[in-house]
Amino acid sequence: MQTSDKNIYAAGDCTVSVDMLDGSKKIIALWPNAVNQGIAAGSQMAGTGKKISGSYAVNAIDFYGLRISTCGLINAKGEKYSDKTVKSGDSYKRLIFEGNRLVGYVLINAGENAGIYTNLIETGADITALKGDIFATPGPFIFGKADRDIRMKGALDL
Ligand SMILES: Cc1cc2nc3c(=O)[nH]c(=O)nc-3n(C[C@H](O)[C@H](O)[C@H](O)COP(=O)(O)OP(=O)(O)OC[C@H]3O[C@@H](n4cnc5c(N)ncnc54)[C@H](O)[C@@H]3O)c2cc1C
Repeated sequence: MQTSDKNIYAAGDCTVSVDMLDGSKKIIALWPNAVNQGIAAGSQMAGTGKKISGSYAVNAIDFYGLRISTCGLINAKGEKYSDKTVKSGDSYKRLIFEGNRLVGYVLINAGENAGIYTNLIETGADITALKGDIFATPGPFIFGKADRDIRMKGALDL
């Protein structure tokens, strides 16, 4: 968060962030990013040295009756990315993958697994280790028991 003037630090919407999902630099104008950057900047200025490895985009909006959530690299292009879409009635789910990692989602009227998906994106989890169909399996039971225990107890260092 230190600027080219070592006595001036920046945080929030005025900064360019590193997207931790692909390393690209972009403006991520969101509250959690501003808060994390503010904590890191304050900590750096106080000499305690907390750093952050980057951020990623998460958005949610209700739009004319459509409940829309997006996260991560929803516009990812290139051979290393793939995506799959499942539609049912008025719900729409698009998941974006980089190899065995989930790197983005677009959910319309289908937000029930948004927290699980966000966690998979943030932790870069290997999705081949998950139980069941990532599109269908609800809740934490998508994780194997050992992994679930760690996540539920909050012991995983995120
Ligand atoms: C309509 C809207 C909806 C949003 N919804 C969401 C959301 O749902 N989720 C989400 O995560 N993010 C949302 N955001 C983004 C979020 O508000 C920003 O990312 C966050 O507020 C950035 O914090 P900040 O401290 O960098 O900037 P700000 O919150 O903009 O704070 C900057 C402050 O500096 C003050 N200021 C400006 N110039 C001067 C000056 N010359 N002297 C002194 N003070 C000054 C301003 O008055 C302001 O109080 C939304 C933004 C908007 C506009």
